[in-house]
Amino acid sequence: MLDPTARDIKYLPGVGEQRAALLNRELNIYSLYDLLYYFPYKYVDRSRLFSVSEIDGRMPHIQLCGEIRSFEEVGEGASRRLVAHFTDGTGFVDLVWFRGIKFVKGKYKLGVRYVVFGKPTIFNGRANIAHPDIDPADTLQLSEMGLQPYYNTTDRMKRSGLNSQAMAKLTSNLLAMLPDAFPETLSPSILQRYNLMPLVKALKIIHFPSNVNELRHAEYRLKFEELFYIQLGILNYSKDRKHKYAGYNFSKVGDIFNRFYGEKLPFELTAAQKRVVREIRRDVNRSTQMNRLVQGDVGSGKTLVALLAMLLAKDNGYQACMMAPTEILAEQHFATLRRMLADLPVRVELLTGSTKQKERIPLLAALLSGEIDILVSTHAVLENNVNFARLGLVVIDEQHRFGVVQRAKMWAKSHISPHVLVMTATPIPRTLAMTLYGDLDVSIIDELPPGRKPITTRHIFRNNIGEVYSFIEKQLCEGRQAYVVYPLITESEKIDLKNLEEGYAQLCNVFCDYKIGKLHGKMKPKEKDAEMQRFASGETQILVSTTVIEVGVDVPNSTIMVIENAERFGLSQLHQLRGRVGRGANQSYCILVTDYKLSDDTRKRMEIMTSSNDGFEIAEADLKLRGPGDIEGTQQSGIAFDLKIANITKDEQLLQFVREIARDIVNNDPDCSREENRVLWRRLAEIKRRNNRNWGAIS
Ligand code: ADP
Ligand code: MG
Repeated sequence: MLDPTARDIKYLPGVGEQRAALLNRELNIYSLYDLLYYFPYKYVDRSRLFSVSEIDGRMPHIQLCGEIRSFEEVGEGASRRLVAHFTDGTGFVDLVWFRGIKFVKGKYKLGVRYVVFGKPTIFNGRANIAHPDIDPADTLQLSEMGLQPYYNTTDRMKRSGLNSQAMAKLTSNLLAMLPDAFPETLSPSILQRYNLMPLVKALKIIHFPSNVNELRHAEYRLKFEELFYIQLGILNYSKDRKHKYAGYNFSKVGDIFNRFYGEKLPFELTAAQKRVVREIRRDVNRSTQMNRLVQGDVGSGKTLVALLAMLLAKDNGYQACMMAPTEILAEQHFATLRRMLADLPVRVELLTGSTKQKERIPLLAALLSGEIDILVSTHAVLENNVNFARLGLVVIDEQHRFGVVQRAKMWAKSHISPHVLVMTATPIPRTLAMTLYGDLDVSIIDELPPGRKPITTRHIFRNNIGEVYSFIEKQLCEGRQAYVVYPLITESEKIDLKNLEEGYAQLCNVFCDYKIGKLHGKMKPKEKDAEMQRFASGETQILVSTTVIEVGVDVPNSTIMVIENAERFGLSQLHQLRGRVGRGANQSYCILVTDYKLSDDTRKRMEIMTSSNDGFEIAEADLKLRGPGDIEGTQQSGIAFDLKIANITKDEQLLQFVREIARDIVNNDPDCSREENRVLWRRLAEIKRRNNRNWGAIS
């Protein structure tokens, strides 16, 4: 049966090409299905009326019923506004419009009873509501209005009139045309056994509930389903993977591994590194494909672990490829590997998007003939004309930048699927990892190399930036270097570039005796590399940058990380950035600069950052603050993890509960063939298709 919700969103009444483009771009809504599953983030009770005398300025949206006594136009120019004096007999409130004054005056009449809806504020002792919703009281059935949904929309959408209300209208259009035959997504036995609401009903209620009770029921049904399919997918997938994927056997620890370990290794491995290397050796010596995720905080020494794994490949006659998410990082890995492997018979090469055709041709030939042992690369390696002689191991650094689609492309470059080692410094809390990465084995490097001094982190308000400058000055004097980071530069955000340029100019002014470099995403790769190189070599002492340096960059002499507009970064990102310092023997500092006025959320983030250096603790806190949908690195194996309604932290119990249900189903129906489960397997396949499609579009 054709899925009626697969239709393009532009065909929905009220949408059209322009709005469709906005919905695509701003909210990733492409189909009717996407809109149907774009749930409200909150509801406001519209069944209740308040009286004007109750207003206290701290209220959320409220409704009043009364009449307008008079209109008054006040102010000049930009502050020109229309005020309607409104009363319900218990007091007066000002309804205020800054736009559409003529329209409002023409539309609403004095002395008619209206229901007014909006968020009241108190200004100069007077209650007022700006741009309220107004309906004639006699047409409004309050008891039927129930809870009003609120949808998140972006500024750009709001500017084009696509606000929460407009989203509600579109959704209601969609629900009205939802066919009765809309397929149920859970099996009758599950619905009955766990007393769950039918899908269509739940969808209607989640958007337009008439009371809290039915809303809770609908939420439960949708959360149940969401978590259930994640678990079913994972459990089913890991069952398959166990007998499906044969892998190369790296049976020997050979000459090169031993020589490197014995003669070249500049330091003793930490106990955690040793443990992970042992785990990897066990994996690759089993004739099944390794699929291992190595989590280790920034600076924990993942690169070295990867290198040892790649030497195992070499000793067994295979090639290895190390993929990095950015050119800067790829070049850095390349330099590190070349340096560490100097004098050993291991050929390491680099392939990126900026590799010249002249170098590329012989490089590809050497790759195909097997002369290259280790290729360090970016996405560039995924191109079809890049082929290996015997690709045995793929290392993916900072894996969240590589989707499943890319992994699949990589696998296709080898006769048997190569072993896969994924490394991430975005630690996923253990509980989450266990439930979500059911199919990946997880290794954790939970120890930093000895001698590292914990980074000292301070939160500073912008008006005290002078102190920060004198501090930087002191460090520079001692021969250290500093990063100053501004939020990401994106096409649309000219302001970001301006901030960075202004910051750069100011720093040049303050630090006129020093050389300052500048790095941002709009620069050409060559320029970026050159700038990075100048900083790494110490030619520049301060590097002003956007988050392009977020991942992996390693300049041990740099001891200060100043993060401007720290409020605009998430916790994991802040932690990543902080990890750029503290990599050498000197005490390092991270300084978070924000405005004076902070949201509660930001204040919490700053507190966590100044009190903890532990990536896992921070990830845990991040999970609690943001919910897991945002945590990077959680997409894999075609299993949905874009949670629309459930919350891994808050719904942990439900997660455990549905996991058991899913486990029973997988165990009792290993071939996915039982009639009673038909709905479930079909739905699971559909979810996978949907996710793959989405990822395909991203890659
Ligand atoms: P990350 O885990 O963030 O990728 P790196 O692999 O870049 O960390 O390592 C960070 C730094 O620590 C590098 O300069 C590396 O040479 C050094 N390092 C790695 N392992 C050890 C160790 N066992 N003892 C001392 N230094 C180490
Ligand atoms: Mg790294």
